[in-house]
Amino acid sequence: MTNEFMSPETAFDPSAKSLMVLLVDDQLMVGEAIRRTLITQPDIHFHFCANPAEAVAVAAQIGPTVVLQDLVMPGVDGLTLVRQYRANPATADIPIVVLSTTEDPAVKSNAFMAGANDYLVKLPSSVELIARIRYHSKAYSIQLQRDLAFRALRESQQQLMETNIKLQRLSHVDGLTELSNRRYFDQQIDIEWKRATREQSPLSILMIDIDDFKRFNDTYGHPAGDDALKRVARSMQTCATRSSDVAARFGGEEFALLLPATPLGGAQSLAENLRLGVHELQILHGASTVAECMTVSVGAATMIPQHGDPFLPLIETADKALYEAKRAGKNCVR
Ligand code: GH3
Ligand code: MG
Ligand code: MG
Repeated sequence: MTNEFMSPETAFDPSAKSLMVLLVDDQLMVGEAIRRTLITQPDIHFHFCANPAEAVAVAAQIGPTVVLQDLVMPGVDGLTLVRQYRANPATADIPIVVLSTTEDPAVKSNAFMAGANDYLVKLPSSVELIARIRYHSKAYSIQLQRDLAFRALRESQQQLMETNIKLQRLSHVDGLTELSNRRYFDQQIDIEWKRATREQSPLSILMIDIDDFKRFNDTYGHPAGDDALKRVARSMQTCATRSSDVAARFGGEEFALLLPATPLGGAQSLAENLRLGVHELQILHGASTVAECMTVSVGAATMIPQHGDPFLPLIETADKALYEAKRAGKNCVR
């Protein structure tokens, strides 16, 4: 047994097997008697605090597994201290055994009402004192371990939730361009199509395809092609200003822009802006059959869906318009 007479040390570690007793009593004789009792127990650490004004702070600092609390002390009532331990988050759950000189049931009742866990008349027998210390310390350690496990569980649940959110986000994003991917686009067009049906509002889409991109790859290499795709994607993203707009990579060098609550006129002017935006990137394309720099062709389509209509014709119409833009010489909107 270590016996640190009035010398608080670091807080109690619940994973360690030792027990720690804090005795708060103004009588040095009592302190000495209990110290002698506990010295026979190698796993019980003992701290003695003779100054009641320091008791709560000492308990908070050393974190005992049980407090033995004298009731009658000069200047402060022991029950007031019991309430103070309970009110302090650092000591609120520490088991408190009140040491009293009286068997008076009213005093006992007050002690339990104030938050004491147990009540012993001074001086208890060694057997009883040690048994109670062990009982309360063990219950407290189990509680601490359970709290620790519960907190760890909560943390891992939180991490799992965050990972799931990240994964879900990743499952919606195209790895190269960071636009929405085809899967997300398909989900959103279904949702927006239904909304447009309910609200009888126009739903537009733009299909966008880079002109002569195969030639670009062949001339400048695949990595340069990837880089150009990213720049075009970024330019597209800046055109899709509403939070409900979805800019997606539809596949390869083809993109799609979903524009809820947008009539054909709005979709056309946005398409034109987008086409100009890509042109203004001035990505050199010496092998282009259209211009000196990279260009896109855009097909636009708008529908106000009627109940039960499938959305596929909207995509097909935009695709057809895109094909016409290509046939009309590329770098244009249809
Ligand atoms: P058009 O003007 O008629 O659209 O001709 P195009 O060459 O752009 O179209 P085509 O469909 O013939 O070729 C598309 C090219 O896009 C071929 C393919 O290698 C390239 N491509 C598709 N995905 C990627 C990609 O992720 N990175 C790169 N660098 N190239 C890609
Ligand atoms: Mg192309
Ligand atoms: Mg293509």
